[in-house]
Amino acid sequence: MTQHHDHDHDEASSTLSPIAARVRALESILIEKGYVDPAALDALIARYETQVGPHDGARVVARAWVDPAFRERLLNAATPAIAELGIGGRGGEHMVVVANTPETHNLVVCTLCSCYPWTVLGLPPVWYKSPPYRARAVIDPRGVLGDFGLVLPDATRITVWDSTAELRYMVLPMRPPGTETLDEMQLAALVSRDAMIGTGLPAARESEA
Ligand code: FE
Repeated sequence: MTQHHDHDHDEASSTLSPIAARVRALESILIEKGYVDPAALDALIARYETQVGPHDGARVVARAWVDPAFRERLLNAATPAIAELGIGGRGGEHMVVVANTPETHNLVVCTLCSCYPWTVLGLPPVWYKSPPYRARAVIDPRGVLGDFGLVLPDATRITVWDSTAELRYMVLPMRPPGTETLDEMQLAALVSRDAMIGTGLPAARESEA
């Protein structure tokens, strides 16, 4: 069987890729045969649409900014560290968090399909699943970041992490300067989804979030 089994199915039928169409067909058969309860599937999808989202990942980032010991645990073994905040579940079993530094910026992609850290970021944005992003993120990461309006110094190295069904990457961005007086909740408000994928940076101040 394919290694990539854990994907969202939210595209309109007309835009389904061949693989997505096959997954949809398989899902229909499983429902028809009684192996899968469509109500349970709907509940799972609704959970990711309404409850789980980038605010969860932002809590993880903010905690790492204020708590060096948590940061260490997060970078050494992300899944149990994230679970300390009550975040986790299906699709988040093998999380890896990679930290931006002044020397290195990290960018996450799934070149094969759309593997994504659902449990901390919710549903992926449409562009994350687009063939141009998936292809160019590897070939020309600096160009992709430019398309997102993110221009890094030439000296900053860009490391691209290819997510799979087995390993889901999340970026730990650097804490913005001038945020020393903010508390953990205020810091979390600075952290966007894109900052945790690597196509953006945290807002400099809460008013800009
Ligand atoms: Fe994938």
